[in-house]
Amino acid sequence: MESSQTPVIDAHAHCGVMDASMAQRPEDYERQIVGTDIAGVAWFSPVLEIYDRFDAFFTDTQDWRRRRRESNAYLLSLKSSHLKVYPYFFIWNDFAVEQLATEHCGIKWHRHPGEPEYAYDDPKCRTAMDRIRNGQLPVVLEEELHNTLRFVRELAHRVTVIIPHLGMLNGGFEAIAEAGLWEREQVWADTALASAGEIRAYIRRYGHRRLMFGSDFPFGSPSSELRKVRSLGLDPAVEAAVLGGNFLRLQARVVHRGP
Ligand SMILES: [Zn+2]
Repeated sequence: MESSQTPVIDAHAHCGVMDASMAQRPEDYERQIVGTDIAGVAWFSPVLEIYDRFDAFFTDTQDWRRRRRESNAYLLSLKSSHLKVYPYFFIWNDFAVEQLATEHCGIKWHRHPGEPEYAYDDPKCRTAMDRIRNGQLPVVLEEELHNTLRFVRELAHRVTVIIPHLGMLNGGFEAIAEAGLWEREQVWADTALASAGEIRAYIRRYGHRRLMFGSDFPFGSPSSELRKVRSLGLDPAVEAAVLGGNFLRLQARVVHRGP
C-alpha cells in the first residue's frame, strides 16, 4: 500500500554528455527539481547520442557505435547524493545487449516516423528480447503505431512495455485504446507531457497500477509535470502509486545482472 512515505520518482528523463543542443546535464536536472520532493529519476541518453535521427537511411558506423557506448556508459557513472539514479540502457539497431550492466534498470527504445528503423526481423532482435525478458527489464517504447502494435503483440511476450506520454507519440492515446493495448497487463504508461484529461481517462478505464509519473526532461519540466499530476486531485494512495510506488514495484522485479 502506497502512502505519503512513498518517494516521488521521475520515470522518464533524458540526461547526456555529448548532445549540447539542450541543457540536459545532471546538474541541469538537479537545478530544476530544487524545491520539489523528487527523490529518484530514471535517466535515458538523449536520442542524438544514439543515432542520426535526421537521416531515415542512416546506416550504423563505428563512430556512432562508440558514441552510443560512451553515452550509455556515462549514465552508469552518475552518482548523486540527493537523487537516486535509475540508468536505462538505450538500445539501438545493433541490439548490443552485451553492454548491459548489473546497474541497468530498464531499456529505452525510441523511434519517430522518418527516422531509421529498428531491424525487427534481425535474429539479434529476438536474442535481445530474450535477454530483456530474462532480466525482467521494463522497456520504454516510443515508436510508430504499427511498430508499437507489433512489438507488444509479437516481440514482447512476457516483457513489460511502458508507452510514454500516454501514447502521444505512439499513435495517440485513443488509437492505442482501440487496439486494446492499455488493458494488457504487460503494458504500462507514463504521464510525461500527457494532458490532465487523458491521465484521468486512463485511470478511470484502466486503473492506476500501471501508470507512472514522468517528466520527459529536458522537453518537459519536472516541477511542472509533478504539479500537473498533483493537481488532478487523486485519492492519496492512488497519487502515491503514480508518483513512485508503481515505479518501485516494477523495479523490484528487475534481475540485476550483467550481459
Ligand atoms: Zn523522452
